[in-house]
Amino acid sequence: MTTNRLLVIGNWKMNLDFVEAVHLGQQIGVILKNRPAEHTDIVVVPPFVDLRSVTSIVDSERIAVDIGAQHVSANDNGAFTGEISTSMLKRLGVTWVLVGHSERRTMYHMDDEVVARTLRAVVASGLNVVLCVGEGGDVRDNDEQNDFVSAQLHSALGGLDEKYIEQVTVAYEPIWAIGTGRTAEGEQIRAMTRHIRSVLSAMGMAGRRVLYGGSVSPENAASIITEGGVDGFLVGGASLVAEKFLAIIQACDGCYAGKR
Ligand code: PEP
Repeated sequence: MTTNRLLVIGNWKMNLDFVEAVHLGQQIGVILKNRPAEHTDIVVVPPFVDLRSVTSIVDSERIAVDIGAQHVSANDNGAFTGEISTSMLKRLGVTWVLVGHSERRTMYHMDDEVVARTLRAVVASGLNVVLCVGEGGDVRDNDEQNDFVSAQLHSALGGLDEKYIEQVTVAYEPIWAIGTGRTAEGEQIRAMTRHIRSVLSAMGMAGRRVLYGGSVSPENAASIITEGGVDGFLVGGASLVAEKFLAIIQACDGCYAGKR
């Protein structure tokens, strides 16, 4: 089953202790109660140590968001100091996991093989995965972004059992646009979104949601949805401020009718 609904994910990265995270969760809850998102699914992705507090507040205050994790181990359990398993996340009420975020790929040596293994562990456990792909500035300068992203998609998703396809979302995040304030042009996003959809389709994964991430803000969200043809966003910095995050969600909601 595919969905027409848009999806906005807030990646809090290594920000907010559990008290601050609860506060942000409550602020999001208040704004959503006054103005619910009609056509947009919402996921927030706090640091590991905040997950328990955020899932508790979301449950007790019935806030219409799902909870994700920023990373997970590809292993089930055992001697992996510092790591967290899929079963630990599930037990906390987490339903989504980011896999292959460029910060993990570049700073923590998460190569394509680890991305593929982690993605399989996530879907096999029943969790939804957001596979992050995207080229660096050097690849873009050489106009090799399509081949680069195809290779990432094939390596992560090639041979994935059909039964897991519905759990997969792809986020296109050009590394040169993450946290830089430099957003990709609508035309560049549209071309890449089309390319990703055609690669997914050739892999038997048509209809999966394709998100964009990279300096998304309340000011540029609506134009990226309409010009870029994406199904929503993976938001970093702007997701740390409730009003900005909700403004992005409302921009998506407002574009829904025009997009569908
Ligand atoms: C991200 O971390 O996935 C991201 C897109 O960050 P930012 O919105 O801050 O560029």
